[in-house]
Amino acid sequence: MQHFQVIQTALINGEWIDSKNKLDVINPATKQKIGSIPNLGVKETQQAIDAAAEAFPIWSKTPPATRANILLKWHNLILQHKSQLAALLSMEGGKALEESRGEIEYGAAFVRWFAEGCRRVDGDIIPSDNPEKRYLVIKQPVGVVGAITPWNFPNAMITRKCAPALAAGCTVVLKPSELTPFSALALAELALEAGIPKGVFNIVTGDAESIGNTLCEDPRVRKISFTGSTRVGQLLMAQCAPTLKRLSLELGGNAPFIVFEDANLDKAVKDLIASRFRNNGQTCVCANRILVQESIFETFLSKLVDAVKKLKVGLAFKDESVQLGPLINQEHLDKMQRLVQDALDKGAECVLGGKPLDMGGYFFEPTILTQLNPTMQISFEEIFGPILALYPFRTEEEALQIANATHAGLASYVFTENMPRLWRMMENLEYGMVGANTGSMSNAITPFGGVKHSGFGREGSKYGIDEYIQLKYLCLDVS
Ligand code: NAP
Repeated sequence: MQHFQVIQTALINGEWIDSKNKLDVINPATKQKIGSIPNLGVKETQQAIDAAAEAFPIWSKTPPATRANILLKWHNLILQHKSQLAALLSMEGGKALEESRGEIEYGAAFVRWFAEGCRRVDGDIIPSDNPEKRYLVIKQPVGVVGAITPWNFPNAMITRKCAPALAAGCTVVLKPSELTPFSALALAELALEAGIPKGVFNIVTGDAESIGNTLCEDPRVRKISFTGSTRVGQLLMAQCAPTLKRLSLELGGNAPFIVFEDANLDKAVKDLIASRFRNNGQTCVCANRILVQESIFETFLSKLVDAVKKLKVGLAFKDESVQLGPLINQEHLDKMQRLVQDALDKGAECVLGGKPLDMGGYFFEPTILTQLNPTMQISFEEIFGPILALYPFRTEEEALQIANATHAGLASYVFTENMPRLWRMMENLEYGMVGANTGSMSNAITPFGGVKHSGFGREGSKYGIDEYIQLKYLCLDVS
C-alpha cells in the first residue's frame, strides 16, 4: 500500500513551520518512531492566533457559496486520498485498516454536510407588535476558534469541529494530539490544496499545556471546542472563565449496554462486539458496563465468549485481516492491567484474556470479566481498552438505576423487543445519546454530544453549526 507523504511541520498563516525542538511520534504496534513534530508553545500559538484574527474579516465575509465550494473540494480531496490517509491513521493510532478507512469516510462526511449547510444559515424577521419598529435576527460567525482534539479519532474529531467552524465563517487554530498529529497535518495539506486561504486554518503542534493555556487566555479567541478527557475539559473551562469564551466540550463516557431477556441476543452480541472493540475499545461511546438480565446472563456470556475468541489481534496498520490493534501507549496498557488486577483482588472472575500480549507493541488480550461490584475501579472508570465488564440485573428499574449511577452521560445502549419498555428506557436514560437495539449510531447528520460530566455542545447535524454562530438582534425604527 502506498503511504502518504508524512508532513512533520506545523502550519501557521499558510507556512509550514519547523523547530529544532521536536517530539517523536511512535507507531504503537511496534514502538518504532514514525517521525517527529515541532514542539511549539506560547510564541507560535500567539502567531497562529494573529494569523487567524487577521484572516477572520475576509473569510467571514466570503460568500457562503464560495466557502461551500472550497469545503466541497476539501471533502473530495480527502476521499481521493482515502487509502493513504487511512494507512497513516493506522500507523500512528494503531487502528485496524478497515476502521481507519471508515473514519476517513466518516470524517469527510462532516465536511460535506457543513459545506452544504453553510448556505442555509438563515436569519429571522420577527413579526413586530409595535407599528414603528421592525425586528430582525442575523447569524454571524463567533470569530477565531481554538480547537483541541484527541488521538483516538485523529481525522474525524478534527473535521467534526473545523468543518462547521469554517463553514460558519470562523477561522481556526487547531492543536491535535501529540500522539497522532500526522493525520491532522495531512488534512491541512489537503485543505490548502482545496483553496482554504492562509491564516484561516492553522495547526500548532507541541506542548499541550502552553498551547491550550494561550488559546484560553487570548481574548481574540472567542470559542474553544474541545474533545478529550473530562479532567482536561474542566481545566479548560476554568481557564476560559476570565475571557468568558464560548465552549463546546465533548468529554469522556461510561456507556451502559443493557440487554433484556426479551432481546435478540445474537444481534446484541454482534453489536456489543462492534461497540466495545471499535478502535480496540478506545472510543468515548464504547459500551463500558454491560448490564445483562439475570435470566439470560449465562446464555449471553457463552455467546459472547465464542464471539470474542474469534477476534484477531495484531499489526493492524499492515495486516488487513487484523481487527484489533494495540493500545495507544504504555500508560493505557498499564491502565488495563491495573483495572483487571483491582477487579480480581476484589473478587471478579476473569473468563477470558486479562493479560498483555507479547507482540512488540502495546497489546492487550480481549478480556471478559464477571462477578463485578461497584467498589471496583472498572465499574466507575472509563475503561478505554478491550475489556468487557458484565453485570447481572433483575428488573427494569434496577437496570436503569445502575445505568444512571455515573457522572458520565454520553452514549447508552438498550436491547429489548418490548416496545413500551424500549420507549421508557430511551426517555429515562440520562445520556445525550441512546442506541436502541443498535450499537452503532454516530454519523454526520445527527447530533453527537453528552450531558453531565460528558460535557455540552453538539457536533454534526443541523445543530452543529450553531456552536460557531452568534445571534445578533437588529431593531429598526421605521417611524
Ligand atoms: P486528553 O488527555 O484530555 O487529551 C485531549 C487533547 O487535549 C489532546 O490534544 C491533548 O494533547 C490535549 N491536552 C492535554 N492536556 C491539556 C491541557 N492541560 N491543556 C490543553 N490541552 C490539553 O484526552 P485523550 O486521552 O487524548 O482522549 C481520550 C478522551 O477523549 C476519553 O476520555 C474519551 O472519552 C474522550 N473523547 C470524547 C469524545 C466525545 O465526542 N465526547 C470523542 C473522542 C474522545 P496531547 O495529546 O498532545 O497531550
